[in-house]
Amino acid sequence: MSAPRLEINLGYLRDNTEVLVERLGRRGIRVSGVTKAMMGVPQLARALVEGGASSLADSRIENIEAMRVAGITAPMTLIRAPMLSQCARVVASADASLNSESEVVSALAAEARRQGRVHGVVLMVELGDLREGILPHDLEAAARHVLGQTGVRLLGIGANLACQSGVAPSVRNMTELSALAAGLEHSLGVTLDVVSGGNSANLTWALNAADVGRVNELRLGEAILLGRETLHRRPVPGLHRDAFTLVAEVIEAKQKPSRPWGDITQNAFGERPKPVDHGVRGRVIVAIGRQDTDHTGLSAPDGYEILGASSDHLVLDTEMALPPIGSEVRFGLNYPALLRAMTSPYVTPHFVCADPIESNRDQTSVTSS
Ligand SMILES: *Cc1c(COP(=O)(O)O)cnc(C)c1O
Repeated sequence: MSAPRLEINLGYLRDNTEVLVERLGRRGIRVSGVTKAMMGVPQLARALVEGGASSLADSRIENIEAMRVAGITAPMTLIRAPMLSQCARVVASADASLNSESEVVSALAAEARRQGRVHGVVLMVELGDLREGILPHDLEAAARHVLGQTGVRLLGIGANLACQSGVAPSVRNMTELSALAAGLEHSLGVTLDVVSGGNSANLTWALNAADVGRVNELRLGEAILLGRETLHRRPVPGLHRDAFTLVAEVIEAKQKPSRPWGDITQNAFGERPKPVDHGVRGRVIVAIGRQDTDHTGLSAPDGYEILGASSDHLVLDTEMALPPIGSEVRFGLNYPALLRAMTSPYVTPHFVCADPIESNRDQTSVTSS
């Protein structure tokens, strides 16, 4: 099989979606499955839909278009504010988008009228993380602007936390979101179908809050893909954390001294590794590097330690018997490593559909923070 490759267990991803859909469903919250780490591969979209995601969400119109071309018919939302220059494509392929600029909403409306469609608008509210969002005191005017146009429909409001500044979802900011929704409905005489509370960082709040208020949707990527909430990166009980494996091939394996010799300056990336001496050690090179993934986000198999990576070489220390040349080493990935592997043209995605029973799901109970 070709290497490097990213093995993707679709059964595990479907399972993870199913578990989250069920648990959040009991709290009145739907799951919008976020596909953005996966370049719109239809296999992932299908796994999320089979797992019960009520819609799909992606930050790039290219990915949404790819899923449409592949025949995925689920409702799709663009979760990065549309570029003015891409409004025609957004209206053509996405059912809805998250928005924070009235100028863009007007452009979407004009385009929707031209295409004979109606585009859904979710207005994003700034709750303190200082990435996207309308300041709360400007929200009503923005909503009136949406309601004043044909071609667009006000679906609701949403928020995004913990992405730019690490501001945690809390009883306070989630209560504020609910209050804003209720306030808009009251002052504008409308019903908001969507109150989209946030991303995987909201999971602990959503599963444990005494009252989730008006929040009825979360947009979940990492929790489904890697089985973790993202505030503390704790495992979510009952989810697979090994749906993705990066497989690389051994191109050198030798016993070598661990201390470099010669005049030490800086390496290929301008770093100055500190020389250490652990005597003669097993040293293994696999054929992946910074062009394929983020090596700092890989976890090596037992008995192996990652020493570093250049563009195309990953160097491992091992106390195990040296692996044969041409054999494969398997790595777990965190989100940045996964994102880079999935978007690298050098890494081949390889879909597997193993029996869910075989996975070691995490059964420890880490729920509240
Ligand atoms: C990426 C993103 C998400 C999903 O985030 P995860 O942490 O992967 O769950 C949700 N909403 C928006 C606006 C995003 O950009």
